[in-house]
Amino acid sequence: MYRLQKSGFDAYLVGGCVRDLLLGREPKDFDVATNADPEQIRKIFRNCRLIGRRFRLAHVHFGREFIEVATFRGAGEEQNDKQMLNKEGRLLRDNVYGTIEEDVWRRDFTVNALYYNIRDFSVVDYTGGMEDHKTGTLRLIGDPETRFREDPVRMLRAVRFAVKLGFKLHRDCERSIPELAELLSNIPSARLYDETLKLFLSGYALQTFEMLRHYGLFKVLFPATESSLAIEENGFPKLLLIKALENSDNRIAEGKTVTAYFLLAAFLWEPVRMQAKENMAQGMVEYVAYQEAAGEVITRQIKSTALPRHISMAMREVWSLQPRFTARLGSKPSRLLTHPRFRAAYDFLLLRADTGGADPELADWWTRYQEAGETEQRKMTQPSRKTQHNKSGRKRNYRKNTDSNTAGHET
Ligand code: ATP
Ligand code: MG
Repeated sequence: MYRLQKSGFDAYLVGGCVRDLLLGREPKDFDVATNADPEQIRKIFRNCRLIGRRFRLAHVHFGREFIEVATFRGAGEEQNDKQMLNKEGRLLRDNVYGTIEEDVWRRDFTVNALYYNIRDFSVVDYTGGMEDHKTGTLRLIGDPETRFREDPVRMLRAVRFAVKLGFKLHRDCERSIPELAELLSNIPSARLYDETLKLFLSGYALQTFEMLRHYGLFKVLFPATESSLAIEENGFPKLLLIKALENSDNRIAEGKTVTAYFLLAAFLWEPVRMQAKENMAQGMVEYVAYQEAAGEVITRQIKSTALPRHISMAMREVWSLQPRFTARLGSKPSRLLTHPRFRAAYDFLLLRADTGGADPELADWWTRYQEAGETEQRKMTQPSRKTQHNKSGRKRNYRKNTDSNTAGHET
């Protein structure tokens, strides 16, 4: 910011960092707004890359970090190749530059439109953002419907910020969402994938999920998951996803990492399981039925949110390893143990066992099997009717709605 100033430009901290600092929180990153245009920024910083077509801005790199530097946006007089709306009112491009007074109105929420001025250490507020910040209100700047139409992703951002900050969505803003939710389906799937990760990997996944469903946004992101949630099977509520979201939030709270593919595998597990069941009913063997189902579900999902190849591959592995856990005899278990995706698949099995989708005894067996020494492992995988099936002295009740009712393989 001082470098920009020295070169004769204005520079302000803006957006999430000002908002979060005012709450006494550590900002996730820093965004800078300036009257220097992207080319001018590039000339001032050697370590600078210009990104984005729809919304061109500069990333100024410092080691592994970068700071996003955006040029003030202005309101274009008429549409041209720099600023463009489509017929639904969506901004296809917003690269008309302007002054800070104009820039304010292009921002999404009032609390995101506070500018910290390094010249006199003041906060510049044109939209009543400070007042909304005090009362914990998330309010769109301008007419909510127009602003949501301009960029439907703002609906997802509304939910993300409301949950993260513990703010209330302003009534007018809230009201427009259900009827405009469908507009999200026109957003490039890659952008929706990025936004999905922000929504679910920030430590408030469960609350976010509930709020997205409440406003009818979730079904646009994960249509197959939404439909599967509506189907009750043997009175079992669909708990796996809830549990996965909870676990993920707890891990983040403990400072541990969470992987996107694991959570996404949980999102789409019900659709995969249901499709696999259908495939089996048509005579496919279990293993193939799951492979096919995985492929079909992913093909449908990427119409909504993109899934990078390495992510969808990992998801498929987690899913297709599930039926393999039921084979406990001979060399199969030791081979499964060496599979590179074993750990994630095993965690997924625990999740299923925890929520009525797999036999807890099976999950237990795998826990013990991993901890056992070599001799013990060999004993555990020897065919012996007694120890295999009637260990606890009673017949296991394999639930009908699981895919682990193939345990009969072992006997
Ligand atoms: P986070 O804590 O997630 O970084 P943020 O508010 O900083 O939150 P960014 O995506 O980093 O969000 O964007 C920085 C700022 O740019 C926002 O605070 C907002 O003022 C503006 N902005 C970002 N995306 C949009 C959008 N889709 N429409 C309008 N303004 C936006
Ligand atoms: Mg930011």
